[in-house]
Amino acid sequence: MKNSQPQPVMSKSDLRFIREDIKQMHAYVVQDAQGMLKLDAMENPFSLPPELGAELGARLASVAVNRYPGAQVEKLKTALANYAQLPEGYGLVLGNGSDELISLLSMACSQSGQARHSVLAPEPGFVMYAVSAQLQGLKYVGVPLAADFELDESAMLKAVEEHTPAIVYLAYPNNPSANLWNTDSIRCIIDAVSAYGGWVVVDEAYQPFSSHSWLDQIRAEPRAHRQVLLMRTLSKFGLAGVRIGYLIGPNEVISQVEKIRPPYNISVLNAECALFALEHARVFAEQARVICDQRNKIIEHLTRLNRVKPYKSEGNMVLVRFMDADAGDNSYALRIFEGLKAKRILVKNVSKMHPLLVGCLRLTVGTPEENEQLLGALDELCESHL
Ligand SMILES: *Cc1c(COP(=O)(O)O)cnc(C)c1O
Repeated sequence: MKNSQPQPVMSKSDLRFIREDIKQMHAYVVQDAQGMLKLDAMENPFSLPPELGAELGARLASVAVNRYPGAQVEKLKTALANYAQLPEGYGLVLGNGSDELISLLSMACSQSGQARHSVLAPEPGFVMYAVSAQLQGLKYVGVPLAADFELDESAMLKAVEEHTPAIVYLAYPNNPSANLWNTDSIRCIIDAVSAYGGWVVVDEAYQPFSSHSWLDQIRAEPRAHRQVLLMRTLSKFGLAGVRIGYLIGPNEVISQVEKIRPPYNISVLNAECALFALEHARVFAEQARVICDQRNKIIEHLTRLNRVKPYKSEGNMVLVRFMDADAGDNSYALRIFEGLKAKRILVKNVSKMHPLLVGCLRLTVGTPEENEQLLGALDELCESHL
């Protein structure tokens, strides 16, 4: 037939077995950053030195891609255990990024047909805790942080008592606020949750840049931390593209999570790449040192600008509030965000993520040259009274 409209291939009922809540969801969109200075996703800005890149290429060429992952992944587990210096009686599970580990933990705690367990986390925080809970049919409870992004200890304890969450996530340091929470508050929460057999997952994605690790607390008091799991990732370390996360915990818990890990979730290429990076951990440690130094310089610089408040950071990002004369308004932050974008600099606009983040942008620390470019642009935008 000429000129007739093509018939649609799908009819509406073809999706009838897809869950309603999934149909309502939006897919995670990765912003196109072609030609932009990318300072939005806490990536390590340094690429591998050329000679290491060549060496890695040769290593990857020797990997048996025709075989399912096996011995190499075991080797990576051993290397990570050494790198993290696991306490006695502790093991680790590997995930395709921490994101997968979060999903596995949700899966381990969700049961169909029974009262729904809940997952609890302070907010604003990392969005995957809520997303994965919802997808696994768990109830999600977000507890607002205090105004300075410190834990609201009494609100947390009250929510724990009310909901008896199976899992409480504490990002240490937090994303997007980049701060470490009060040690005593964390201890109180761990005590309350452990008392009934819940888990506290301490998410240390930003450990390479942080002055403290909760692993030291675990080592000092293993008994008090029997219900604590520590999650880390190589993403912020410098391998965001490689997708390796790991969960550390007492062997008894780790062996349960291990049962639901998809058997080949870590590709041989990812494993080899991570092994290679750990063999050169000093290169990455030096990069982290430069990043921390740069971060402190960015904060110092922004402190001097009017109507701009950078928050303290223990990560590779800086949360910055752009204050309008009319407080409680995002418009100044949005103008700065758009102004940066016009200068081909991409940062993250987090101002609409949570009421506590009104007027806030999150800047990822780049190379010294990139940061200079960013600060120059911010100076100009702030001086232009836009
Ligand atoms: C970036 C980030 C992660 C990392 O996720 P991957 O899947 O390992 O890349 C985990 N937790 C927090 C709080 C993060 O900010």
